[in-house]
Amino acid sequence: MDTVVDRLIRYAKVFSESDYYGQAGTPSNPAEFDMANLLVGELHGLGVDNAFVDAHCYVYAWLPATPGYEHLPAIGLIAHMDTTPDLTGKDVKPQIIHYTGGDIVLNQEQNIVMEAARFPELAKFVGQDLVCTDGTTLLGADDKAGIAIILQAVEELLSEGAPHGKLCLCFTPDEEIGRGASNFDVAGFGADFAYTLDGGDITDYEYETFNAAMAHVTVNGFSIHPGTAKDKMKNALLMAMEFNALLPALETPGHTEGYEGFFHLQEMHGKVEQATMVYIIRDHSMERFKERKAMLEKAAAQMNLRYGADTVVAEVEDQYYNMYEVLKDRMEIVHLAEEAMKAAGIAQPTHSPIRGGTDGCMLTYKGLPCPNLPSAGHNAHGRFEYAPVESLKTGVKTVKALVCPTLVERVIVKKEV
Ligand SMILES: [Zn+2]
Repeated sequence: MDTVVDRLIRYAKVFSESDYYGQAGTPSNPAEFDMANLLVGELHGLGVDNAFVDAHCYVYAWLPATPGYEHLPAIGLIAHMDTTPDLTGKDVKPQIIHYTGGDIVLNQEQNIVMEAARFPELAKFVGQDLVCTDGTTLLGADDKAGIAIILQAVEELLSEGAPHGKLCLCFTPDEEIGRGASNFDVAGFGADFAYTLDGGDITDYEYETFNAAMAHVTVNGFSIHPGTAKDKMKNALLMAMEFNALLPALETPGHTEGYEGFFHLQEMHGKVEQATMVYIIRDHSMERFKERKAMLEKAAAQMNLRYGADTVVAEVEDQYYNMYEVLKDRMEIVHLAEEAMKAAGIAQPTHSPIRGGTDGCMLTYKGLPCPNLPSAGHNAHGRFEYAPVESLKTGVKTVKALVCPTLVERVIVKKEV
């Protein structure tokens, strides 16, 4: 039998980086099919003959309910196959390091060191084995640790003949570039609810995300020779700065944390004649989210009072919403996750608000409620990414507990009756 560590190392070595500038739709990078095909082959090897990859590079598979457990809800398990384009995921050379404390030399030759002072949470893992990189690439534990945990749990459930309700599995492409849910076939998947395994520390789960919008702001100026510009020139660059100054200066990503929302100016281009700005607007509270959008529109209106109609044109478009707006009426799904983590030996599971979105929040609004479970990776998107072996094993136990009929009966079915 495989181990979860064997799986993570095997998957980490497969190049499946998503690509902002790649093909339209999914997969953005055809190489993601290599990962998909490997997983389909492994599922077939486990006897899950219905596994397949579709034309959009989504891998689907189903485990029918054990006879006698058909009444249980169908539970979905989801992880993403791509790795972030932020750092190369090519030629990943994972290594297992027994951590005895202090700094970790990942690469003697190139003097790449993971410093304990910079990553204080390492102290939690003294005495444990860590799956690390050689310091030259990311590891891709985000989210191949999630895939490894799911497939290891499936292999163990099957070999132990452990009972379960219907399980629906999906491995998605292009999560890292925001397309992971775009071609997801929710109806075909057929789950009553699901969990993404795309989190961090194995003790922390998530069911709150931001509400998110993007604003494209165009500032229309009037260019004329500076020597003869008096009472004529309207400098779009200056007006753009003035517009930005109407937004609360301390409500930016650099000044906020926890449940505090923000406006983030992420692009600014322009000349005297015209300037454009791109903002993202984020807030966990739906009410404050709406207020923020109104505030940005009010700033545009104010600029137009000062400089004339259509000087500033703001186009605001919603991107995704906080999954909690839906989950607050389905909290048993969240409780099942927490109970499963406890059953896996995590004394006190914690949850924190995500300062971003997940595939799960898009899926939640497509009708598939979908909180996020931890997948044991740390320092995602960088060369210091690692996954503790013990945490990976706890992840497998969590998934097995999550689908255990006794627990599902107690937390979900009783609640529904
Ligand atoms: Zn991820």
